[in-house]
Amino acid sequence: MSPTVARESLDVEAIRSDFPILHRPLPNGMPLAYLDSAASAQKPRQVIEKLTACYQEFYANAHRGVYQFGVRIDEELDAARAAVQQFIGAAEPEEVIFTSGTTMSINLVAAAWGRKFLSAGDEIVLNEMEHHSNLVPWQQLARERQARLQYIPLTSDGRLDLNRLDEFLTDRTKLVAVTAMSNVLGTINPLDKIIAKAHQHGALVLVDAAQSAPHLHGNVREQNIDFLAFSGHKLFGPSGVGILYGRRELLEAMDPFLTGGGMIDEVRRDESTWAELPAKFEAGTLPVAQAIAMKSAVEYVEAIGFDRIADHERRLLTQAHQQLADIPGLQIHGPDPESKGPIVSFSVDGLHPHDLAQLLDQKGVAVRAGHHCTMPLHNLLGLTATTRASFACYNTTAEVDALAEAVRFARKKFRLA
Ligand code: PMP
Repeated sequence: MSPTVARESLDVEAIRSDFPILHRPLPNGMPLAYLDSAASAQKPRQVIEKLTACYQEFYANAHRGVYQFGVRIDEELDAARAAVQQFIGAAEPEEVIFTSGTTMSINLVAAAWGRKFLSAGDEIVLNEMEHHSNLVPWQQLARERQARLQYIPLTSDGRLDLNRLDEFLTDRTKLVAVTAMSNVLGTINPLDKIIAKAHQHGALVLVDAAQSAPHLHGNVREQNIDFLAFSGHKLFGPSGVGILYGRRELLEAMDPFLTGGGMIDEVRRDESTWAELPAKFEAGTLPVAQAIAMKSAVEYVEAIGFDRIADHERRLLTQAHQQLADIPGLQIHGPDPESKGPIVSFSVDGLHPHDLAQLLDQKGVAVRAGHHCTMPLHNLLGLTATTRASFACYNTTAEVDALAEAVRFARKKFRLA
């Protein structure tokens, strides 16, 4: 089940051999340079095989069957929960809730924690680099509870302005919601400083780890994280499954989010009581196969090792910055490679991001164009859209060359000097 890693440093060709889709030529015959892993990562055969095995060999609904398949499925699910627990450094498997993804995980906290514990005048601290998934649920909650939103300002190079943290993080703060890595700027946020300051004021911290999960080692206990959310599909795992981590006492104090089957202890005609964790937050039928295959996804990343992943991706990122910076009229948004993960968002004078992305596609280079679910950030940049290339451990230096080459081709097509 472990990935095909042979040498000390990351062997990218060995990694690529685990990803069948990367070897499929495109309809126009070009090889694929998949530079959109920040939107969703491709899947290694270890994950695909686990999904297939689950459906072909032991599929049943979870927590239901006393027959042998049903027992196996529950064992597999428990093993997946334990693997995720270990991956994020949680104290107990019961603190790991399977959701449908980061969006649902954050909505769960906003509804189940926020509605119960937030009062008029309380403050939620956000910032403008957050994904809509980590903004809109808090806006809705703030409106409902008459709470206020505060925004930590960004520096001109797209980092949180920590010098101004004290202005925004006060005794009125009840929650700080912050991304570990921006999905546009790539900025890696200094969680330790934010968490320490938030806790001094008695506030909780929710970390959106959707982008950081495939690139950065994290440990919820060592980092004192209260809530952590991420998605399977960005971590080489299946779509349709995600994780919410919460400290036990927080999850226990919260009301349920979704109600219905599987999350109850006892149902009477007029009222009900709730199941123990994690079932209390897993109403209805889980994405069983996807959750089970999360074990293969986290094991895949762990077997390569975050150090090797980081080394390799840093090389790609530095190369991309150097090559793109040489292109006339091209501006990279966000900090220097030292302060960010493997994401490069950029603008090219005279080229709309959508046109650019389409021309890159002609060369087999798959990137994303748009606001990337970060309209407030784009407003701050004075743009409606950007072009984003993002890298994962399976990308090569040749693909970075292809990106720069394709941008030059696009400029020529538009007759830009
Ligand atoms: N947060 C960040 C930083 C993201 O990049 C994304 C996905 N683009 C999300 C949240 C939402 O993830 P999902 O769509 O898997 O719920």
